[in-house]
Amino acid sequence: MNFFCRLFGHTWVPVTDNPKISWNTGDDGLVLHAKPSGETRLFDECARCRERREIVPPKRFSAAKPG
Ligand SMILES: [Zn+2]
Repeated sequence: MNFFCRLFGHTWVPVTDNPKISWNTGDDGLVLHAKPSGETRLFDECARCRERREIVPPKRFSAAKPG
């Protein structure tokens, strides 16, 4: 771990692992359509020591409406 990270803590910067995107022409043969072939993964990466932590997407919970 970086000295400063140990001192101040990590400086997390959001980064993404872009999935491989395949470009295909549509039916018209003119327009390119991007098809992501995988999930986009979100990370936080420390700007100093490049340590990574995966961002856990917030759980979606059904909000109970009063009434
Ligand atoms: Zn760090």
